Amino acid sequence: MDKQQEFVLRTLEERDIRFVRLWFTDVLGFLKSVAVAPAELEQAFDEGIGFDGSAIEGFARVYESDMIAKPDPSTFQVLPWRAEAPGTARMFCDILMPDGSPSFADPRYVLKRALAKTSDLGFTFYTHPEIEFFLLKHKPLDGSRPTPADNSGYFDHTPQNVGMDFRRQAITMLESMGISVEFSHHEGAPGQQEIDLRYADALSTADNIMTFRLVMKQVALEQGVNATFMPKPFSEYPGSGMHTHLSLFEGDRNAFYESGAEYQLSKVGRSFIAGLLRHAAEISAVTNQWVNSYKRIWGGSERTAGAGGEAPSYICWGHNNRSALIRVPMYKPGKTGSARVEVRSLDSGCNPYLAYAVLLAAGLKGIEEGYELPPGADDDVWALRDAERRALGIEPLPQNLGEAIALMERSELVAETLGEHVYDFFLRNKKQEWEEYRSEVTAFELRKNLPVL
Ligand code: GLU
Ligand code: MG
Ligand code: MG
Repeated sequence: MDKQQEFVLRTLEERDIRFVRLWFTDVLGFLKSVAVAPAELEQAFDEGIGFDGSAIEGFARVYESDMIAKPDPSTFQVLPWRAEAPGTARMFCDILMPDGSPSFADPRYVLKRALAKTSDLGFTFYTHPEIEFFLLKHKPLDGSRPTPADNSGYFDHTPQNVGMDFRRQAITMLESMGISVEFSHHEGAPGQQEIDLRYADALSTADNIMTFRLVMKQVALEQGVNATFMPKPFSEYPGSGMHTHLSLFEGDRNAFYESGAEYQLSKVGRSFIAGLLRHAAEISAVTNQWVNSYKRIWGGSERTAGAGGEAPSYICWGHNNRSALIRVPMYKPGKTGSARVEVRSLDSGCNPYLAYAVLLAAGLKGIEEGYELPPGADDDVWALRDAERRALGIEPLPQNLGEAIALMERSELVAETLGEHVYDFFLRNKKQEWEEYRSEVTAFELRKNLPVL
């Protein structure tokens, strides 16, 4: 038994923890959990815990349904909302096949595989997410319109504000679970919040995002409201993005940084961005995986351009250009050695393991193939006319999930990164969602057509 495993077993005893939840994530990014008694843990560390994978989205075909969850002791945390003794703790798991080999259906493994390739190239991948979400007074389940929990706007600071108390308690809870928060504020829409996590290696960040979503929902319930990570719950307000800042390190050196270069961006940094741009459309179905995701991308950005609450619709990069898909944040004099890129397409409803894996693969492809970075966009790309954008070589992101699926179906990069099993399951599942949506007569059509036709 290694030191971390010993630490876990000792803590269970010292803190009177009787329930240990083993967490993992299905292919669509939903958290799953099985509780084990502490007495089972030693064996779980050795061999894992068997479960029936056939009931988990994307995990197994019925005839190969036995799977094993093996806890990762480095992710051990006591759950603060179950603080009273006897307590409850959690660990993230790796999913294994009955023969002990890693399961190709485990999103955490998909990311680990992409990270292993990164370290073969000599890099470590760091991510820093800005997570947006809504607090709702209640969360209707019948398709009717939800009500935001407050009426505040961007950076508003008002007394008796639901969001403020919420953020305070939520952040305290995150910190007590070892998740550091850098910034938090009210976002542009009523009820909309943003919390930014401190940068960490991509696997920890993805684990942290899974924890984050649960903690937000938990704290919301305690305060009599509901949290949602749906990309675009309201037509008239901005949606919830999960902009992520990315960087590669070589040892302790930021590989995107080059002193004196334009924007302090090294050749590695430039090619990485070029890769993100060239593959942005084909990875879209993963970074923006719901029918609703494309309502965020296309809903209202022209209308409210410049209002500071929009999602990117066009594939381009810019320096402090908030309409661009990729932004290279302003270089701060005095902060030498640091450079990063912000990807703004991701939304809060993505599977963070898969989304980070495809972004990383796209960037690395740019480095490996030495892609040239096209010129940056200085203009507000939402305000340009189609012909002007075309002249600048700026393409749109997919219009909808159907288009995104068609592009993913032709993508070698996504197939290779997700692996055959996840790739096939994901496409099948998303096609079904798209077909269901495509055949539904919506309130829009009834409103538009019934009065006049
Ligand atoms: N809510 C916007 C989005 O969906 C982002 C607003 C911001 O710039 O933080 O991407
Ligand atoms: Mg924001
Ligand atoms: Mg941002």
